[in-house]
Parts: sequence; C-alpha cells; structure tokens
Amino acid sequence: MGVPLGQIWSVTSHILKQKMARRRRYPLVLMLEPLFRCNLACAGCGKIQYPPHILNRELSFDQIMQAVDDCPTPVISILGGEPLLHSDIERIITELIRRKKYIYFCTNAVLLGEHLHRFKPSKYLNWSIHLDGAQEQHDFAVCKDGVYADAIEAIQHAVARGFRVTTNTTLFEGVDPNAVRGFFDSMMELGVEGMMISPGYAYEKAPDKDKDHFLKRAKTQRLFRMLLSNRHLGKQRWVFNQSPLFLDFLMGKTHFDCTPWGNPTFNIFGWQKPCYLLQDGYTETYQELLDETDWSQYAASSKDPRCANCMVHCGHEPSAVDQTFSGVRGMLRTIRSMMNRDCKDSDALRALEAQSEVPHGPLIQIGVNGYSADKDELSSESADIEDSYNVGPRRHQTFSDYHTQPSDVTQADATTSMTTSPAAP
Ligand code: SF4
Ligand code: SF4
Repeated sequence: MGVPLGQIWSVTSHILKQKMARRRRYPLVLMLEPLFRCNLACAGCGKIQYPPHILNRELSFDQIMQAVDDCPTPVISILGGEPLLHSDIERIITELIRRKKYIYFCTNAVLLGEHLHRFKPSKYLNWSIHLDGAQEQHDFAVCKDGVYADAIEAIQHAVARGFRVTTNTTLFEGVDPNAVRGFFDSMMELGVEGMMISPGYAYEKAPDKDKDHFLKRAKTQRLFRMLLSNRHLGKQRWVFNQSPLFLDFLMGKTHFDCTPWGNPTFNIFGWQKPCYLLQDGYTETYQELLDETDWSQYAASSKDPRCANCMVHCGHEPSAVDQTFSGVRGMLRTIRSMMNRDCKDSDALRALEAQSEVPHGPLIQIGVNGYSADKDELSSESADIEDSYNVGPRRHQTFSDYHTQPSDVTQADATTSMTTSPAAP
C-alpha cells in the first residue's frame, strides 16, 4: 500500500491554497508532542530528561484541538515521549480522524501490540515506528535488549490488521551503511508502506565529546549518498515516505535552506521557537510564533552555529516540498528525481564496497542529561517513574557525567541538551 491518493491531494491542495494566497510562511505538518513521558529511556533523548513534574504533564484534548484549529495542516505528526501513554489518546486520534487529518503516530512500538485493539485501521492513521537500524544497532540506541524484536512483532501485527505502517530512523556517525541498506530490505519485506530517515542533530548544550558522534554536513552527504544511491542493488524495492528532493538534499545533490516554520512544534510549553530542535522560547498561538520569531536568525545561511550543520528533516523537508511547488522548474526537478529512482552512482558504490572492509563500531552511546550509568543513581522520583513504566535496566553505559536538576527546568528555560530527531513526516 502506498501513500493514499487522498493524502497526496490533501497536501497538494493545501500548498496550492497557500501559494494562491501568496503566503510566504505557512505550516505543512503540525508536530504535536502531547507529553514527554516514555516507557523507554534511550540515551541521547532530550525529552525524558525533564524532571518528573514535567514528565507527568500532558496536553489536554481541548488544548490539542485548539492547536489544530490554530494551525490547520493536512498532516499531523504525534510525537513524544510515547504518545500511547497519553491518558486520552484514543479520543484524540478519533477526533483527528473525524477532522480528516492524516496522522503519523510516532511510537517506539513496545506497547503497540497491547494497544492496537483500541484503534481502527484508517487511511488517516499511520503508525510511524521508531527504529534506528537493525537489531543490534536499535537495541543499543534505545538502551534495552529486545525492543527491536517487540517492534518487529508490532509491525507484523499492525500490517496484518490492515493499518498503515511506516518506519522512522535517525542515523548517527559510525553506522555501517551496508547494514543500514540491509535494514531497508528487511523493513520492506515486512510490508511497511515506506520508510523515513534523517540524520541526527547535535543540540546546543551537547557535551563536546558527544557532539563528535552526530553527523556533520559533509559526512552526512557522504553517508546518505552511499545509502541511497544504487537502489536497484537492494533485495527489495525501497520506498521512502519523503519528498524526493529531500533525499537529494541529504545526498548533497541539491541545496536549500531550512524552513523552520513549516513543521511547527506544539507541546505543554506552547509553540516552540523556532523549530522542533531548538528551544528559544514559546508563544501561545501559531500566529504569534510566525510574527514574533526573527526567522533571519536561523538556517544554515544564518550566523547561528546551532544551524550550521543541521540537515534534519523537520526543517528541510518543508523546504523540499516548497521547492517542488515553486514553479515549473521545481516540478520538473522533482519529476526527474522520481524517474531516476535507482540513483546509479559508481563512486558511491565503490565507497560502499570499501565500507564493507572497514570495521564499524564499537557503537558509542550518546550521553543524556539527568541520567547516569546506573539506575540506582537516578533521583528517587525519576526511578519511580522508570519503575511505573517498566523501563528495564539500560545495557549500554557511556553516559554524560553532568546532570540537569529538576529546578533547572522552567517554561522559560526548557532547554534540551541533546536528542535524536525523529524522521517524522
Ligand atoms: S527517543 Fe523516543 S523512545 Fe527513546 S526515550 Fe526518547 S521518546 Fe522514548
Ligand atoms: S537549521 Fe535546523 S536547528 Fe536551525 S532552525 Fe532549521 S531545523 Fe532548526
């Protein structure tokens, strides 16, 4: 099953309406974070590091519907934390489907099997499963053995029940490109509708030693060129649930700046300035976010060092889509990219083959504030939360040695140290 025609039409007509209204800045995908709580404790996650009183908070049904009215996008990405833990999630999803919103429900899938009966298959609902590579790599990334196997079982169950299923994968420096290509084959064999990929991103307060493990721009392009070229050599036909121009951008074949207002983020603090990755304050409405943000301060062409190497999907996929609709040239470029699906590239193939001779690993875990190597060292409140969501002991233990105290986090200073970036739509 591919992306439903209704979704393509809904997105196309939304963009055409914005173009006809000559709106320079418009939203494409609403990134909704109804809570930060999670049943896993991945190292590097910038959400679960919040103190317990923040982790216990949720956006209410009414707040979510107000945000949806405020920022009427055809597509909504539901992120977290783990959104399945939200106390009113069934009602929220039912209402969004009634409003004909295309939902990408990002989940680590550990709880999906037991929650699936609460939802009905719909062309509006897509389970976007967080999987950062094959078994060893994913279990390492989420710091718990068995999570990959749980996710695969959940995908099989959901596909068999007729749900739309995609995967979202964040890649970090040091990954084995041949293993990732094998992972693409495995996902397509499972019958997923498509895959979404994104490079990782270094947050502003990431400890220097950890920053090295995020992909820098040139390395990102090299890696994605190896991954995405010569697709005809894959065992399966790979389908990416992303704009062809965004994939070209990752491979270094085209360039555009980020469009941070395109995928705005709304969470318990409000509308996040300027994007999903940075937290330079919050506004009460999407219009205030548009009006009060000095957008010239952001994107790789700006002087903000935090944007210098960023190629993350949330800022650049809207740019890719906007470029497609920028005129005849944009449209032709997109068609050309779609026709050149195999992306044959002998240099990339040589580089890929050379990678099979290179040892990869050992995988290095990325640090996260607020957690230390041993569960016993967590604050008792954090340990309680961990217990209540049955978070198993973390297996990989190269953690950051500095800590965020609960009192450090306020709405005005809700500063994330670092996180992975879901390759959500
Ligand atoms: S990265 Fe995702 S699955 Fe992992 S702890 Fe954070 S929110 Fe949960
Ligand atoms: S370049 Fe990246 S970090 Fe900077 S505003 Fe855009 S999405 Fe955010």
